[in-house]
Amino acid sequence: MIESSLLTQLHGFIDGQWRGGHGGETIDVVNPATGELLARVPDMGALEARSAVDTADGAMRSAPSVQQRRSWLHAIVGMLQQHRDELARIITLEQGKPLKESAVEVDYSAGFFRFAADQLDHLSAQPLPAPIKNHRWTIHHRPAGVAALITPWNFPLAMLAKKLSAAIGAGCAIVAKPAELTPLTCIALWQLLARLDFPPGFVNLVIGRPEPIGDVLCSHPAVRIVSFTGSTATGRMLIAKSAPHIKRLALELGGNAPYVVFDDADINLAADALMANKFRCAGQTCVCANRILVHDRIEQGFIDAVTQRVRRIHVGNGLDPQTDIGPLINARAVEKVRQHIDDAVQHRAQCVLGGDAKGQFFAPTILRGVTPQMLLSREETFGPVIAIGTFHDEEQAIELANGTPYGLAAYVFSRDAARIERVTARLRFGHVGVNTGMGPTPEAPFGGMKQSGFGREGGVEGLLEFCETQTVVAL
Ligand code: ADP
Repeated sequence: MIESSLLTQLHGFIDGQWRGGHGGETIDVVNPATGELLARVPDMGALEARSAVDTADGAMRSAPSVQQRRSWLHAIVGMLQQHRDELARIITLEQGKPLKESAVEVDYSAGFFRFAADQLDHLSAQPLPAPIKNHRWTIHHRPAGVAALITPWNFPLAMLAKKLSAAIGAGCAIVAKPAELTPLTCIALWQLLARLDFPPGFVNLVIGRPEPIGDVLCSHPAVRIVSFTGSTATGRMLIAKSAPHIKRLALELGGNAPYVVFDDADINLAADALMANKFRCAGQTCVCANRILVHDRIEQGFIDAVTQRVRRIHVGNGLDPQTDIGPLINARAVEKVRQHIDDAVQHRAQCVLGGDAKGQFFAPTILRGVTPQMLLSREETFGPVIAIGTFHDEEQAIELANGTPYGLAAYVFSRDAARIERVTARLRFGHVGVNTGMGPTPEAPFGGMKQSGFGREGGVEGLLEFCETQTVVAL
């Protein structure tokens, strides 16, 4: 069982109180590296979700000032910095990623709170410069209402930080529901939040199986925005469930990122960038390159450069400082990766390296001869698999890259500035890396096109997502 000074409570948090589920049922949280039981957390349900939303609704009546919100955001930055190592340890224990990545996740999370604190002036009332029709016009950004935050297991802290920082900045009371696989980081964060002077009911945490809680969050009239990161299938369901109630939605859904390497690219740069991009969180991120598209003239050189680098990667327990890749989150994830590889090989892809798992530890894998029909080209593999296909010219590269219903992240490698300009303008992806595998940052808006969702996180846009624009016209 896990022992931590940040986990002296293993409960949800409603109306300023630590609370369990009314039925007394629990959910097991397991270390994916060892199978060890880390904790039993309450399986809260519809009753607790309703109570959390009601109390959040009540808390919104005393609107906190901008100054107050800024001071909470700064305080959270300070607490994340102070407890960085312990939060990182908890992330690694329940999620599996290497400790060094977990520490980066804590820093990245703190960045969202810091950035939101610095941007609150954007929410000030903006009078139009001159009277119109003899009236004075002012644009206000009001808090949208109670915000429901639903987050996935791959970044237990960062995915919540993106939403929580913006919601608090905008002045929304919140109900958070973390993934049932990784609730401990979130409980640890709440142990810190409970030290701040939030009005009771302003920040609520509900843990449990998703459906009963999700149904309340999608239907309760006080919830005005549901901010969700997770699969496209769940996003689609949330759209359907919230449709009768006309809620604002911000949905960061699945991706299927193309990684396009032209024949004029710096191959070593493209191979280095791929290592960092592809193997972060063992390939379980929505911005991970999923389809590596390489000009046929440089295919062999690129495969050699990548193979050399992949051979140096250490797979192991995330607590070991040597580890570059930890375990996949659960047996189902291993099965999915295996199925994608089997399907590719059956359709005549060749396995250059890796290809199998020991328990939940999947070996970094390189496949060549990958075509658009294969399962791993059509769906996000969410594992450490480098799936390489080829193209012959620029037009075909764009067509292949865009040949997916998803539109989250894409990457282009070329030394030709005009080509980069042409290709980037036609890529239907919300995030495009040019000669880099860099993911999002707190200072810039991030989000998807097409079936990767809508709404943005980070940047001023992320803050405005939690606001309603109100125009006041006065004589
Ligand atoms: P993944 O397949 O990556 O686990 P999911 O979309 O299933 O992605 O999960 C992301 C988050 O959405 C998790 O917090 C999960 O509990 C939650 N979730 C899943 N199904 C529902 C639902 N029906 N209502 C609300 N939340 C849900």
